[in-house]
Order: sequence, then C-alpha cells, then structure tokens
Amino acid sequence: MTVSHAKYDIAVIGAGASGMVAAIASARAGARVCLIEANSRVGRKILETGNGRCNLSHTPIDGSEYRGSGAGRIKSFLERFGIDETLSFFRDIGLLTRERDGYIYPYSETASSVLDVLRYTVENTGIELYTDKRIDKIDRASGGFDIGRLHADRVIVSTGGSADPASGSDGSGYKLVRDLGLKIVHPLPALVKVRTREQKDMSVTAGVRAKGVVSVITEECIASDRGEIQFTRDGLSGIPVFNVSRFISRAISEGRDVKLVLDLMPDMSISDIESYVTGLTETCSTRLRSIDEILAGVLHKKINTYICKRIGIGINSPAGDMTRKQISRYAGTIKSLEYDIESVYGFEQAQVTAGGVDFDEVDDDLQSIKVPGLYLTGEIMDIDGPCGGYNLQWAWTSGYIAGSSAGRG
Ligand SMILES: Cc1cc2nc3c(=O)[nH]c(=O)nc-3n(C[C@H](O)[C@H](O)[C@H](O)COP(=O)(O)OP(=O)(O)OC[C@H]3O[C@@H](n4cnc5c(N)ncnc54)[C@H](O)[C@@H]3O)c2cc1C
Repeated sequence: MTVSHAKYDIAVIGAGASGMVAAIASARAGARVCLIEANSRVGRKILETGNGRCNLSHTPIDGSEYRGSGAGRIKSFLERFGIDETLSFFRDIGLLTRERDGYIYPYSETASSVLDVLRYTVENTGIELYTDKRIDKIDRASGGFDIGRLHADRVIVSTGGSADPASGSDGSGYKLVRDLGLKIVHPLPALVKVRTREQKDMSVTAGVRAKGVVSVITEECIASDRGEIQFTRDGLSGIPVFNVSRFISRAISEGRDVKLVLDLMPDMSISDIESYVTGLTETCSTRLRSIDEILAGVLHKKINTYICKRIGIGINSPAGDMTRKQISRYAGTIKSLEYDIESVYGFEQAQVTAGGVDFDEVDDDLQSIKVPGLYLTGEIMDIDGPCGGYNLQWAWTSGYIAGSSAGRG
C-alpha cells in the first residue's frame, strides 16, 4: 500500500518563538507552509518569559552581548532584522510595545499578548498547524525531506535548546540535526543559578539580596557582571549570577575549578571601608556597642554575620575591641567574598542553552551548508545572550531571516 504524503514547500518543526515567526515569514513569501508542534498548544515558553511579561527585546543591541560560535556573526543578522524591524513586524500584526531602561515589553506587559498575536497571525496566514506531533526523524528524500507522513521541499528546525524541557524544548532537536550530520557544540545550562561548595553556612544569608559585582575566576577572571545578587540556601542567584553562569557551566564541564568572587561594595575601595569602620569603632558613642551593632548600617546584618563568622570575628564582641587586622580582613572580604562553585543547576532551572549547532554549519540565511534546504532558527543554534530580551531577539531575527529565505525557495 502506498502512503500518500501531505506536501508542503516548507515544514517548520517547533512552534515556539522563532518557529512561529519563521512560518509567518515563509508564508508571506508565498510558500505553502506547515508548522509542527510537539505540545498540544503553540508557544508555551513565551508565556513564562520575563516573569509572565515577556521581555521581547532590548535597545540598544550591538551584537557584542552574545556568546557562542555565532557571536562574531550576530551583528550582520541584526543589521538585516534588528530591533526596528522586529518592532515593526509586531506592530503590523497588532502588538504595541513599551520600553523601560532599554527593556522592551508588550504594552500590555502580558506575555500572552505576544503569544496571541503570533498565534492569530499563524492561523490567518494559511499555515497548516499540526499539534501533539513530536518529530524524531527527518529523512532526506528526492526533492526535499520526509517527516513522518509529510513531505516538504525545505525544513526549518525551530525546536529550541534543552532549557526548560517542561515547555517542550527537551533537546530532541539536536538529535534531528545530528542525524543529518551537523556538528553540535555540547549544550549546557545557562542563565541559571549556582550551588556553592560552602553549603554549611549558606543558610545564614539565605534570602538576602545585595547589589554588587560577581566575577568568575578559573585560572584568571573569565567573566564578570554587576547587579542584584541573591543568596540562596545552597548557593547564589540573581541576574548577574545568571549572566555569568554560561562561563561557569563551560568551565565545570571542562573539569576546571571555579570560584565566584563577590564585591559587595563596588563603589568603595578597601581603604575607604577600612577607614570608615575604624572611625565607627573609635567613636565614643559606639565604644560600648557590639560589632554587630556598629556594622548594621554598613551591610545587611546577615551578610555581616556571615562574613564575621567566616573570618573569625565574634560579632557580639565590643566594637572597640576590633583590631586593625580584623577591620582590614572585614573590608577585604566585603570586596572579595569568595565561593568555590560546586555546580550549576540543570536544564530544568535554566532559561537558555549555551551550545548548539555550530555556526560553521550555516550560511548567511541560516541554511545548512551540508544539507541544502535545511534551515535552523533560535536557541538550537550555538548562540546565547544575557538576561534582558537578547535571546528572544535572536529568536525573532533568526526566525524571520530563515523563514523569508526558505519561503522564497
Ligand atoms: C523561564 C524563562 C524565562 C525567559 N525569559 C526571557 C525573556 O524575558 N526574554 C528573552 O529574551 N528570553 C527569555 N527566555 C529565553 C527565550 O524564551 C528562548 O530563548 C526562546 O523562547 C527560544 O526560542 P526558540 O524558538 O528557539 O525555542 P522555544 O521557544 O523553546 O520553542 C521550541 C518549540 O519546539 C517544540 N519542539 C521541541 N522539540 C520538538 C520536536 N522534536 N518535535 C516537534 N516540536 C518540538 C517545543 O515544544 C517548543 O514549542 C526565557 C526562558 C525561560 C525558560
């Protein structure tokens, strides 16, 4: 018996952020398009982005923010479909946006607005949608590709990475393209919190948030970022920790020891802190007070307790007994609070994937060089950006470029 194949010009696998834009762009270029999604609904991850508000882009972006094998090429993609083109694309399909401190959100500040306008546009552009259909194989066939019982002249793989597998992006896309011979840079969790080796006393600071600079040290400093650090029961979190986590992931996977060093007073030098604390200990009114009391206005109480414990100062001792050496150690530790890192959290907790399809595998339209007719978009590619809208911007940019090129045929 011959199985009749539904035939399309383009099959897009994965109806997430980049896949929906790729399908729309292909259909607008005149192609007959189908969009295939493993979940029962499209764009599930979009609803989780930006804490439910969807930070869909960032301004300005010059490309230097991205890492991975695509970092050197992202600028040229953004020049073709960057922020202006993205905002105008969304405006045309009915989404207004607003910008605050560079972060771009839907005007409604609700992620479902972004998903809805994409979903309605997919429905109204003549794209055939298949849901509850997880693809585990793409076969090269004469004149294109067979995907189960579907045939398509060209295929766009938009299956995302491995981050947040509950949303549908469970890393199955890597197998699809690895089986076709494409090279993959080992995928690792990024934009994720970390566990410290010093577990014992982490409970002292758990729940505290403090502004500072976070640096990743292996043999040397390999990355740093500034912002609000969050202390957790077993480690560290917060945007600056997320932003450096890709470097920690990679270093640990290469078997290197990693330290995270915090500067909790980046605006003051060690000597500024020393002389201020020395002044406090010498003031008559504080002579009878405890170290705990005089340091209460310098840093969060719990951080003081943790630091004093770590450097062996009795926090309840009289402030006047604090020696020069102790003051100097206290100031030095504020400026350089070191943690040995045990691990990063897994993909379940990660917001993006560092690693993926090597950019050497694709041309300037994100078409595979080895497998003509195969295109790749979004997080499956080896490129990742920091928190702040950069990863979705790549999803829109890559989806639009690959979709329009594939659609033109
Ligand atoms: C909690 C969270 C918050 C985030 N917040 C932001 C933010 O505010 N700003 C920002 O820029 N980025 C954010 N990101 C990152 C951003 O969401 C992703 O980088 C982006 O969604 C990637 O788009 P994509 O199209 O490559 O993949 P995805 O959006 O992950 O979509 C992939 C789709 O493919 C489907 N699929 C996978 N495998 C198969 C298969 N074998 N067959 C069929 N279908 C398949 C999946 O079900 C999914 O629907 C966040 C991520 C998370 C997890």
